[in-house]
Parts: sequence; C-alpha cells; structure tokens
Amino acid sequence: MTRMAEPPDPLERLIEEFRRLPGVGAKTAERLAYHVLRSPEAEALALAAAIREVKERIGHCPVCFHLSDGGTCAICRAPDRDRATVLVVEQPKDVIAFERLGTYRGLYHVLQGRVAPIDGMGPEDLTIEALRRRVAAGGVREVILGTNPDLEGDGTALHVRRALAPLGVTVTRIARGIPRGSAIEFASNVILGDALEGRQALADAERD
Ligand code: ZN
Repeated sequence: MTRMAEPPDPLERLIEEFRRLPGVGAKTAERLAYHVLRSPEAEALALAAAIREVKERIGHCPVCFHLSDGGTCAICRAPDRDRATVLVVEQPKDVIAFERLGTYRGLYHVLQGRVAPIDGMGPEDLTIEALRRRVAAGGVREVILGTNPDLEGDGTALHVRRALAPLGVTVTRIARGIPRGSAIEFASNVILGDALEGRQALADAERD
C-alpha cells in the first residue's frame, strides 16, 4: 500500500457513497463524511459493521422478495397459505401490516419500492418482471394490488396491471377504505381489513 493519496481519495469516496443514499445531497454527504472522519474510531467502525451485518444476515425471499434470512421466507414456506392468491405490496412493512390482520391467507409479492420518477425509480427498478414470471409459471388465480392509495401507488399499480394483462389472471385493487394519501403501514386493522375485503376487480388495463 502506498502512503500517497491516490484517487479516489478515501474522504472523496465516502462523500460519493453518502451521495448515493436517497434524499442526501452534496452538502449533507459532505457533512456526514466529515462527521465520520471526526468520530471516534469505534463509533465509525460500528456503523460500518452494522451496514455489513444487515446485508449479510438479512436477505430477500427469492419468491416474494419479503425479508428473509436469505432463503424462502416463512410465509412462502407455510403449507396452509392459499398459493392461488398473491397480494402485491410496495415494501416489507406493508406485509407486516397485512399480516397483523391475521385474516389474509394468501401469499405476497413485495415490489421493493414504487414508481417515483422524482426519486429516479422506474418500473424496471421494481420486482414487476419477477412477479410476471411468477404468475406466468401458473397456479396464481388472483393478484391483489395492495400498493398505497396515493398518486404514486396508483401509478405503480397501473404498471403491474399492464405487465400482467397478457396473462389473463384476475387482477383486483384493494378498496378505497384507506383515506387517500395515507399509508398502508399506518392504517388501522379495521380499515386495512375492510380495504382488503372490499377489493374490486379491475377492467383490462389496455382500456385505460
Ligand atoms: Zn416469500
């Protein structure tokens, strides 16, 4: 190892890494990097260790993309779940919200985000193609769109409908019980249960 500073300079590199984080601009990235530089070594290394551990120990289910320890998740493995019904949600927190109800017996598909052009998230950044392949493989009779009831959630649902349209599977959307603009993860069990129970079949997406 040479002692000369060579590009990329470690501090520059840290700033660059922070800049990749959502919602972090150039100024904040710099502030965070200088904070790490000034922190006691143990504190800075604890942050690095926490990042490493979350990536090593928590993975995604290869079937539904819910959190798992790397293999197929407990919900996908459970023998008593209805494998013909798949509830599509934006993030693992939404799975946890629906599971809290205790009434939904189908499986899930976690998109790992939502279509949000302002954050640079397009449909290709989500797990829509994996869902399409999953449905195309057969056995799924109903796909419930459980994205959030707001502009981006509706837009995301439309992308999923379009991807599934050629497959002829029944696609439904959770009902409007959840106040527009509020998030599934914070909805009460009663409201969430009604929204799921009152889901409506959608017409062919091509007619939009
Ligand atoms: Zn799973």
